[in-house]
Amino acid sequence: MTIPFVDLYAQYLSIKPDIDAAIETTIKNSSYIGGRVVTDFEEKFAAWVGAKYCIAAGNGTDTLEILLKAYGIGAGDEVIIPSHSWVSTAETVVNVGGIPVFVDTDARLYTLDVDQIEKKITPRTKAIIPVHLFGLPAEMDRIMEIANKHNLIVIEDCAQCHGAEYKGKRTGTFGNAASFSFYPGKNLGAYGDAGCIVTNDENIAKTCRMIANHGQLKKHDHQIAGRNSRLDGLQAAILTAKLKYLDKWTEARIANAAYYNELFKDSVVITPVIPEHSRHVFHLYVVQVNNRSQVQEVLKEAGIETAVHYPVPMPAMPAFREYLNGSGSYDVNEGYKDKLLSLPMFPELTQEQMQFVASKVLSIAN
Ligand SMILES: *Cc1c(COP(=O)(O)O)cnc(C)c1O
Repeated sequence: MTIPFVDLYAQYLSIKPDIDAAIETTIKNSSYIGGRVVTDFEEKFAAWVGAKYCIAAGNGTDTLEILLKAYGIGAGDEVIIPSHSWVSTAETVVNVGGIPVFVDTDARLYTLDVDQIEKKITPRTKAIIPVHLFGLPAEMDRIMEIANKHNLIVIEDCAQCHGAEYKGKRTGTFGNAASFSFYPGKNLGAYGDAGCIVTNDENIAKTCRMIANHGQLKKHDHQIAGRNSRLDGLQAAILTAKLKYLDKWTEARIANAAYYNELFKDSVVITPVIPEHSRHVFHLYVVQVNNRSQVQEVLKEAGIETAVHYPVPMPAMPAFREYLNGSGSYDVNEGYKDKLLSLPMFPELTQEQMQFVASKVLSIAN
């Protein structure tokens, strides 16, 4: 039995008529950039998240950078981010001229350790970017409390958490604004690169829209130096077609994770923790095992694809070495990084497939 890490083709087949019609209509209307198909998606996604404004853009890295710019974060400004995330969270801070200040993560939740945040705040701190990693919301009550106390902007990195909830409220609605990615493998994925910003702040929404489209709101009225980061019509049409199924897919991911948890119960495998007050949407199903490379090898031989998210904490990357200047340790992240293993996770995964994965893991894990 070969089991892919994600099966995007199975997903396409399950909704083929919707996708084919969306593509055909977009081509028939030649609405390749902008237009109704994009604004339609923006309206639907904003409503789905529960935010007033949605600004579609080229990808979920651009959206972080556009937001940092829109909030005027630049040279010398410090931005607090978790040590454990996809590289975009740190590189966008650097790319606007800011300084990423890394905070260690929680060994079981994988999100930033909220008790470490205040120690890192200086007069130059401007913002916090919490990442709802793997689909689990960061501990937002404490983060918002600290941000309000110190007057900091909060930009949620929602690239992995479409539909996740913290105390009954959707991620993307806690901070000043949020950034989503629609990279193909994300919980809502396009057929190429795509991303968006959501916010309730009209001025920030307007500024982000200008930055993403050459500094203009009207054609040939360039108010600021912007850039080109637009969502193309085909991706918007595909995302609109897929959005209808997102809640169903999320339920399937949650059920699959619960099944995996059951299969690994009372074993050496450390399974994901789901705090009572959170809805984890399992973009990734990440376990910890002591002998990761051995486990990966056995699974590979059995035809099972696995991955590691992420092998290197961002502060340990050569790219960010110059920003460390004694900013403290990230020992917890260092301590678990070699144990992390992401198992196949997608809505269409069957119980039989999960049984096979779990039996292989359990045959070797220690
Ligand atoms: C995927 C991802 C991004 C970047 O999204 P792209 O659309 O690939 O640019 C940013 N942050 C996190 C946490 C991600 O997982």
